Amino acid sequence: MTYQYLFGPVPSRRLGMSLGVDLIPHKICSLNCVYCECGRTTKLTTEREEYVPYEKVTEEIKHYLKNNPSPDFFTFSGSGEPTLNNRIGDVLHFIKTHTEVPVAVLTNGTLFYDPEVRKELREADVVLPSLDAAEPVAFKKINRPPRTLNIPQYIQGLVDFRKEYSGKIWLEVLIIPGLNDNRENLEALKEAFLRIQPDEIQLNTLDRPGAVDKIRAATRRELAEIVRFWNLPQVKIIAAAPDRKKIVSYRSDTESAILETIKRRPCTLEDLHQILGLHINEINKYLDVLEDEKKIVSVRENRGVFYSIANN
Ligand code: SF4
Repeated sequence: MTYQYLFGPVPSRRLGMSLGVDLIPHKICSLNCVYCECGRTTKLTTEREEYVPYEKVTEEIKHYLKNNPSPDFFTFSGSGEPTLNNRIGDVLHFIKTHTEVPVAVLTNGTLFYDPEVRKELREADVVLPSLDAAEPVAFKKINRPPRTLNIPQYIQGLVDFRKEYSGKIWLEVLIIPGLNDNRENLEALKEAFLRIQPDEIQLNTLDRPGAVDKIRAATRRELAEIVRFWNLPQVKIIAAAPDRKKIVSYRSDTESAILETIKRRPCTLEDLHQILGLHINEINKYLDVLEDEKKIVSVRENRGVFYSIANN
């Protein structure tokens, strides 16, 4: 069975081998972050809908559980904002009643002002919302929100969620130098953290090509300075992804597995090696052919050469 709504498992920095559940068609999101690995948001909205059908997603989950080893986590993620799907709570409940595998939700957290969204996520084991800005100028620069969203409402939603939710909250803050690392925003963020009280504050920076050029990753030293400035025990800089040496390869069709993986986000050869469990030389052969056929393109970044789908 080829899965349409499940992807991976992929090695995640924070969740081990994580099986992705994608409830949103490509780039429907409530934000349009400059650093988005999936490119520009095509539909910027806060309207919730059943963007992909509950029955089809749960059918795939059932099939996966029957035919594959358990991943470390089921993770709601993908190339859009998962809480925009108004059946997320039902899919989450389905997973929780069919397996012991813990569930994580990667979300931008912008819809947490809605009590229904907060209620729907209560069964998750860990929720990883993001908050890159706590003042309006930085918010506009880095997250490019729709007019319907504002900072006080965004932060209040996270504060309310903390009060109602007993699982873990790992708040992610992504730093882009020049956009959200000014003193005013860092101070406002600290104030917000003290109100939200997340279990962890995970400091991150650009890892792959973003939606716009001319942005760069923060250096390790810049991140360390921010950690010092906040001086809060929950803050940590996220470490590198775990090795995937012992993971069996789940995919048989190599070319489509590579294309499917880099369709979701640009990857280096090393990423593909870890994700797909294939030998680097073998992946290289396919990349050569795919690049030659102009199906993929490569871009050099600090971390190496990233492959992504060509926009023919
Ligand atoms: S990074 Fe996340 S929240 Fe930001 S535009 Fe991309 S999918 Fe949306």
